[in-house]
Amino acid sequence: MNDAIKNRFTTHDVTNQAPPLVPYNAYATDTALREAVAHEGGAWAEKALGDLGAAVGDEMMALGFLANENKPVFKPFDRFGHRIDEVEFHPAYHRLMSLGIQHGVANISWQHAERSGAHVARAAMMYLHSQADQGTSCPLTMTHAAVPVLRQSAVLADSWLPRIFSTEYDLRHVPAWEKRGNTIGMGMTEKQGGSDVRANTTRAYPVGASGPDQLYQLVGHKWFMSAPMCDAFLVLAQTERGISCFLLPRFAPSGERNAIRIQRLKNKLGDWSNASAEVEFHGALAWMVGEEGRGIATILEMVALTREDCMIGSAAIMRQALVQAIHHCRHRKAFGKFLIDQPLMQMVLADLALESEAAMAFSLRVARAIDASTRDPAAAAFARIATAIGKYWICKRCPPFVNEAQECLGGAGYVEESILPRLYRQAPLNSIWEGSGNIQCLDVLRALAREPETREALFAEFTGVKGANALLDAEVAGLATQLADTVDLEKRSRYLVERMALALQAATLLGAGNALVADNFCQSRFGGLRGAAFGSLPANVPATKLIERAF
Ligand SMILES: Cc1cc2nc3c(=O)[nH]c(=O)nc-3n(C[C@H](O)[C@H](O)[C@H](O)COP(=O)(O)OP(=O)(O)OC[C@H]3O[C@@H](n4cnc5c(N)ncnc54)[C@H](O)[C@@H]3O)c2cc1C
Repeated sequence: MNDAIKNRFTTHDVTNQAPPLVPYNAYATDTALREAVAHEGGAWAEKALGDLGAAVGDEMMALGFLANENKPVFKPFDRFGHRIDEVEFHPAYHRLMSLGIQHGVANISWQHAERSGAHVARAAMMYLHSQADQGTSCPLTMTHAAVPVLRQSAVLADSWLPRIFSTEYDLRHVPAWEKRGNTIGMGMTEKQGGSDVRANTTRAYPVGASGPDQLYQLVGHKWFMSAPMCDAFLVLAQTERGISCFLLPRFAPSGERNAIRIQRLKNKLGDWSNASAEVEFHGALAWMVGEEGRGIATILEMVALTREDCMIGSAAIMRQALVQAIHHCRHRKAFGKFLIDQPLMQMVLADLALESEAAMAFSLRVARAIDASTRDPAAAAFARIATAIGKYWICKRCPPFVNEAQECLGGAGYVEESILPRLYRQAPLNSIWEGSGNIQCLDVLRALAREPETREALFAEFTGVKGANALLDAEVAGLATQLADTVDLEKRSRYLVERMALALQAATLLGAGNALVADNFCQSRFGGLRGAAFGSLPANVPATKLIERAF
């Protein structure tokens, strides 16, 4: 081709675009996370976190795109017409599961239960994994959270826990006991009620003797059962004594497929790499776990841990959105200046950085309380109330946060090739599942009313940093006055829980001792100069320092 023709097809040079971010180490580049892990007692896991961080910022990021572009497919029958009720996931999903389990996202807390900070280390792993893909975080979360429930049955714990603690992911469709590693899901929500699981209509009939550890046949349905290719599910069903908890294996003890019929997969807003199924139980066999008639109390041990992971998952989505926004603004110019140097953009990024660090640090603080809760009743009380407060607030902040980060990328943030649209679709999920916003607020009120030790634990957290920041001290005093007024408490509970969350985030940051972050968080959240949108910070906030620290 002669030069004249070649030039006709060379219409322009591509300039002013950010280079690809990947590969980067999602742990090594996150100063706030590394400091929080050390502060909360998880520093012994540094090496493992660094390894996972490298995978997240490289192979796993690419796998996340593939797994979400190729949604799971429901296969009701095999080629010969036999009912199989399988869901086929893309190989990228399986690789993400495999990497997550291998690194310890589902179980490092149980493998190293004797070490202080074990839950902190796992929380940090979940935080990293969820930045690459959120769909696989769901079965990893549920597998982790099922452990305290299974421990309520010595027989089931003996046979199932070794496979749950395995570092191998085994994707084969064979009975759990023939596999090298198992994953666990959960089924509580039914058509007529999700928040109010007392409305469950699924029935359980004893096959022989009744009671804990005994085999039952389940007849009924579940309206949402995510990750339906898990090896077993903790589900709720009614017996003569009321709602009870069961472990429902995907293959029956005989080795045949259990009578779990998948009706269809949900067509979801986001969470595309993962499948969520509507299922029916046609006499499916399941073992009772825990006391008969006390199923809600039994499964609440799982719910407490999955709620903590909702906080971590939302914090992770915010972190990934923030990283993308800062990276873009460092390389993109408008009106002759890099976006990162534009004063108003600095305000937006600094505000997002404060929000992101507060969400992450508070989630890890709760993880430390979970860690200590078996030894220390005050820590257990703190974990109890702080999880409900954090689940409400951190999940609620996620959707507007991602939208703001998207805006930093301009049109590029609205395009699927950037991760932002996926994060945006995923952002509302954690606020809905495992107890939506109102349910969390009501749970906070319930804890305060029925478990006085939770109120003590809440205020002890503030006492620990009293005098460190006058704005927080005033906020806490105001909160105490508001709580003392019991009129219309339920109607006022969103406002109160929001204030508790902000005060707890501030206390966590002050306790960690980084004045740059803590003082500016207090100044911007309690100083009275803040608007509703991100970026409306007081003008004296040292934005560049905050952005530099963030990424
Ligand atoms: C992607 C996805 C995956 C899921 N996976 C699973 C799964 O694996 N297993 C499972 O069991 N469930 C799963 N769920 C279901 C989820 O947990 C429920 O949707 C959730 O608990 C809410 O229940 P619901 O949909 O029945 O809503 P409802 O219970 O009808 O609630 C609707 C709204 O009413 C509010 N509300 C309820 N009671 C009150 C009250 N007293 N006062 C004020 N407001 C109230 C709620 O906060 C909510 O905002 C999943 C959901 C999604 C979206």
